[in-house]
Amino acid sequence: MKTDASPKHFKTLSQLPETDTMPFMFVGHGSPMNAITDNEFSRQWAATGKSLPRPKAILCISAHWLTPGSTQVTAMDLPKTIHDFGGFPKALFDAQYPAPGAPDYAQKTIELIRKAEVVADYEWGLDHGTWSVLIKMFPEADVPVYQLSIDYAKEPRYHYELARELYELRNKGVLILGSGNLVHNLRTLTMDESEQYDWAVEFDETMTSFMDNGDDMGVVDFLKMGTVAKLAHPTHDHFLPLIYALGLRSEKDRIQYFNSKILAGSISMKSIIAHPE
Ligand code: ZN
Repeated sequence: MKTDASPKHFKTLSQLPETDTMPFMFVGHGSPMNAITDNEFSRQWAATGKSLPRPKAILCISAHWLTPGSTQVTAMDLPKTIHDFGGFPKALFDAQYPAPGAPDYAQKTIELIRKAEVVADYEWGLDHGTWSVLIKMFPEADVPVYQLSIDYAKEPRYHYELARELYELRNKGVLILGSGNLVHNLRTLTMDESEQYDWAVEFDETMTSFMDNGDDMGVVDFLKMGTVAKLAHPTHDHFLPLIYALGLRSEKDRIQYFNSKILAGSISMKSIIAHPE
């Protein structure tokens, strides 16, 4: 981590402009190829972007930035586009998402979080969990973007509690976006795109009913589903961003779903957007 040569005069939370309460989202990102492909999912991302109030900044919690033992927030002026995958066409490696960073909002996020001692990061950037979605949702790349990492050493409930501390950012024009997948098992993928394993459907539907009923703890305690949960998420990286999104919910928010489809047996693209009513 480098220290910034030019001293920054960060605004305090009260100095950041107050806005209407922003929606929050969880997006199933699926294959990185969605970034450069026109399909039903990427078209919906584009439509969603157009429907949103313009954010002052976007905070993304991505399945692809795991920092066991710490919580970090990107605080650079110009985050780089990270091509954190292999075996894809050159066109995907050529794709860039040159959105500016959001150092003021990053600093404020550090101050807001009590649950962890959050560290400013100047090395990461925007991983594909973030930019593969935003390149369709905000193609102009003119909204500042920053990321919060996931302390992968911690239990699901910890992440939910940490996310609750981010709520105030919604009143400062920050669009908070969790990026993962509601079901994510790459080991069981089939060549048949239309296949849906019974356990994938069961997990997807059970989590959806918890969300519909306002039962956040049902989602946070997903491991209670035992074998079905282990099949849906052999690792937890793609599920934890959903827990972050739900931590941002207030009683006023109504959740809507989009891209509700299970692909290739065991990838759920189901995404949520929640607006205050
Ligand atoms: Zn992913």
